[in-house]
Amino acid sequence: MASRTYALYIMSERDKRLFDLRAGEGDQVYRGVRRDAFGRRAAEAVDATRGVVLSARTPKGLRIFCAYYSAACGGHTQSVTDYMGGGDAPEPLAHGVACDFCRIAKGEAYRWKPRSIAKVELLGRLKDRDEAFADWTEIATVAVTGTTEFGRIGQVTLTGADDAKVVMGPETFRLAVGSRVMRSTDCTLTDLGDTLEFTNGKGFGHGVGMCQWGAEGQARAGRQASVILHHYYPGAQIVRAY
Ligand SMILES: [Zn+2]
Repeated sequence: MASRTYALYIMSERDKRLFDLRAGEGDQVYRGVRRDAFGRRAAEAVDATRGVVLSARTPKGLRIFCAYYSAACGGHTQSVTDYMGGGDAPEPLAHGVACDFCRIAKGEAYRWKPRSIAKVELLGRLKDRDEAFADWTEIATVAVTGTTEFGRIGQVTLTGADDAKVVMGPETFRLAVGSRVMRSTDCTLTDLGDTLEFTNGKGFGHGVGMCQWGAEGQARAGRQASVILHHYYPGAQIVRAY
């Protein structure tokens, strides 16, 4: 229901483009239908909930919203406003929720080991993405200049030569560093001079909306799908759209 709602929402936002969704991490990491037992169970769930979506109350009535989800929140999801660096949020995404159910996650999804990136490498990646860095010859300092309500990095300020300065939102910065290095914004960033170090890492992904490992943890504990969805999207209403 969450992925259907997300897909329908994104498709409605992109009605002027020649494609609906990206197959990769930009949208939903869709790799096709699996033909094993897991794939069959997933297909059954899709069929059983056909046309059922999540919606939020708005002044115009119930509307689907961008039902974000990510791999693991690491303890607390974050509001879409913190993720976007401002703006309005539909009620189900307005505040984060506590979740420790994702501690069952495999690999480093719940807690991640320290990682680092050389400033020289980061500058190259920033130049590829953002014209603001076109004339930069070095990154002098990187500092966390804002923290979100639940302790994630909320803003990062980079300085270069000649007092050049760029302030970045946390997710833009994270993706520039690389989502496999800075696996979430719930970590400690330390400027070591030539390199940046990321420690105390919690969670994997942006942490907005449903925590996928947490949802599995709750399902294994016997909770129904609707209960799990209401946990991560408080105030959402489950309705049949077609
Ligand atoms: Zn979680």
